[in-house]
Amino acid sequence: MLTITSVHEMQSWVDAQRAAGKRIGLVPTMGYLHAGHLSLVAQAGERSDVVVASIFVNPLQFGANEDLSRYPRNIEGDTRLLDAAGAAVLFLPSVNEMYPEGYQTAVSVDLVTQGLCGASRPTHFRGVTTVVAKLFNMTKPHVAVFGAKDFQQLVAIRRMVADLNFGIEIVGAPIVREADGLAMSSRNAYLSPDERRAALCLSRALAASCHLVEQGERDALRIVGAARRVIAEEPLARIDYVSLVDADNLQQVTELQRPALLALAVGFGKTRLIDNCVLSQRSTVESQQPSEPTENTLDCKLSTVD
Ligand code: AMP
Repeated sequence: MLTITSVHEMQSWVDAQRAAGKRIGLVPTMGYLHAGHLSLVAQAGERSDVVVASIFVNPLQFGANEDLSRYPRNIEGDTRLLDAAGAAVLFLPSVNEMYPEGYQTAVSVDLVTQGLCGASRPTHFRGVTTVVAKLFNMTKPHVAVFGAKDFQQLVAIRRMVADLNFGIEIVGAPIVREADGLAMSSRNAYLSPDERRAALCLSRALAASCHLVEQGERDALRIVGAARRVIAEEPLARIDYVSLVDADNLQQVTELQRPALLALAVGFGKTRLIDNCVLSQRSTVESQQPSEPTENTLDCKLSTVD
């Protein structure tokens, strides 16, 4: 696997690949990779001839009091994982390469970024769409894969690609979970052992709501209430939001009629975690606890958004 740090070199490499008729797949990440990231590389591999995985901890998407300076990094380990996963290139630009002196342009998507995480992280999605637009221009992919773990990000990127005519296929990949249900996240590394145990209330909360839906409940307040109650029982958990929104436009719903996203953000000490699942009228709950990391510990039509 090649590691490329310069934008110019990256563009020359993809130009040559495109000229040779190759289909390019892109997987943007912030590194400290886990099986969730690697599942995106696998999906990109199935849909393209060469996969470019990028690692860039994007200062623009962190708020002033967020975790930019302590965000976990492990470039050596990540390089090994990406190589083994079959990526052709690790694109690893520096902050200066991405935002050279004089940089002043941003891409923002308005409506779908206002609620959920956008409410408590007002500059976050502008940073995300800006860097992703730049990565698209640097790596010129035919297809790019994003995780449904960051569902609002996925919706915003789909909107940006449609609105700005990028002509790139956007694939949403299911959430990969630890065997006990916790959604994999680089930020899980911040959790103390007690917080790690407490964080299981997130997937339990989603499962409780799924269960209600399975029993026929369609009222949003009651569906959200079931998840809230599970989280409220956990003393280490601080709810930022628990919301039921339309899975396409992310507007609040009062009744489950079409597939809806049950999304939540919860703090544990200094760590803020997010999780979600897509609820449909067909939702069912599975009680088995697989021992391997799995994409569908909760069987409530989890986050499949293709
Ligand atoms: P990050 O490095 O956290 O910015 O994530 C890079 C990409 O990996 C994003 O598209 C995320 O949605 C995706 N991702 C992160 N965690 C998971 C997970 N547990 N399952 C699937 N995709 C994930």
